[in-house]
Amino acid sequence: MTHNPSSLPLKSAESQKPTAQPPYRSRVRRLNAARWRQEAALIAFFVMLGGLAFMTLANLGWAMAVAVGAYNLSLVYRLMRVASGARRQRGHAVYGLPGLIQDRQRRIRLAWGRRQRKLVELLKRYHHSAMSVPDAMVVLTPLREIEWLNDAACELLDLNRSDVGLRIDNLIRDPAFVHWLNDTVSGRGLEFQSPGDEQRALNLRREPYGEDRDLLIGRDVTALYRLQGVRQDFVANVSHELRTPLTVLAGYLETLLDSEEDTHSEMFRILTNMHQQSERMRRIVEDLLLLSRLETTRPDEEYFESIDMASLLGTIAHDAQLLSGQEQHQIMMTIDSGLWLVGIMRELHSALSNLIFNAVKYTPGGGMITIRWFENPQGQPVFEVQDTGIGIEPRHIPRLTERFYRIDVARSRTRGGTGLGLAIVKHVILRHDAHLHITSQPQQGSVFQVAFPAARAERHGSLAPQKR
Ligand code: ADP
Repeated sequence: MTHNPSSLPLKSAESQKPTAQPPYRSRVRRLNAARWRQEAALIAFFVMLGGLAFMTLANLGWAMAVAVGAYNLSLVYRLMRVASGARRQRGHAVYGLPGLIQDRQRRIRLAWGRRQRKLVELLKRYHHSAMSVPDAMVVLTPLREIEWLNDAACELLDLNRSDVGLRIDNLIRDPAFVHWLNDTVSGRGLEFQSPGDEQRALNLRREPYGEDRDLLIGRDVTALYRLQGVRQDFVANVSHELRTPLTVLAGYLETLLDSEEDTHSEMFRILTNMHQQSERMRRIVEDLLLLSRLETTRPDEEYFESIDMASLLGTIAHDAQLLSGQEQHQIMMTIDSGLWLVGIMRELHSALSNLIFNAVKYTPGGGMITIRWFENPQGQPVFEVQDTGIGIEPRHIPRLTERFYRIDVARSRTRGGTGLGLAIVKHVILRHDAHLHITSQPQQGSVFQVAFPAARAERHGSLAPQKR
């Protein structure tokens, strides 16, 4: 038996589709046609009315006036009904052509309603997602008043929904926070302890929002901090544990070196090498300990003192001349000796000597090193060291302050470098709210400049810069 494919009970995919709704446009067209038909029926009615008037009055003029007048009256009446129902959702249905206006009004109103509902839905969704973001978010007005805040802001910043409209610096009174809020120039973030929970570390950022608003974003970085703390503790502990055995080792090596009489023997060479290496390790350990102290402690205000920078830089320059030794670098100083600085003496000594010693280390013998200490036009005290040394390629400059980042490892080692000097400089500078600026040209030399905040400057006695 053969099957005729057309007699198969299976329906084609096409025929299985639900009957399609007439498209919107053709529905509108059908409605409009209905309105025109209604109007035509109405006109026919008034023509008949005119005919009736003619039969009664036997005057064509009067009959036409009756028909046209009655039609006009009906038109005015229907238009008035359209106008009165314009604001209502469901006005009375109007017959004929004025119904076209009414239909159009209704369609516009429905579309508008649909768009409004969509918008409200979208806004609700945005609001919901902003509310459930795990980061604290607070919108601030130009007067620092809270305009909006999410759930995380309530939890992390210890705020309340009822705080909307209040100034945030009246609610969070931590001086570091208030100072950060007032600093609209630097654009720096703030590491901050959660006001509601001392165990919680927050990272705060501020972004411009809308025309004149600020969006304050706070991220919980407690886990990151703990991890960083573990790493810092580990480095500090290891360095601390290594310090004693290294001192003992260096001591014994020194004794052995002293007792070795033949300074040309192989043993003397080996011992000298061992002593140099142990010294290098000791310096690395010392630098690591200093770095971890700088990283883990806050610069206490009580450590800040007025520093006579002319005297400090003079001492460092003297040490630099000793470091230069046979290489005979020329060290020039242009110092404004009346300009003092409020800072932490020990830390500044360490940072500035690192910069000056680097200038000596990376400048061939006989080169020129210029140390400057002056006040710039913005009133900031500035330290600058310029050398005529090997210089630095631009691509290295952003990475120089990373730990153990060295351009030429062998050169750094032979010059007694640990690779930690500029990392220490970076931290000391951060603790003094200063900025480091490096400019350099390979084979021409480098300039390392540190600009301190104007507020840390002090004027004492002499005003004239001195040359040495
Ligand atoms: P190091 O102990 O190796 O000197 P630093 O952290 O002090 O470590 O410096 C990092 C690297 O930056 C150095 O190894 C060197 O390559 C480069 N550097 C620092 N200062 C200068 C300079 N004045 N001129 C040229 N290169 C420099």
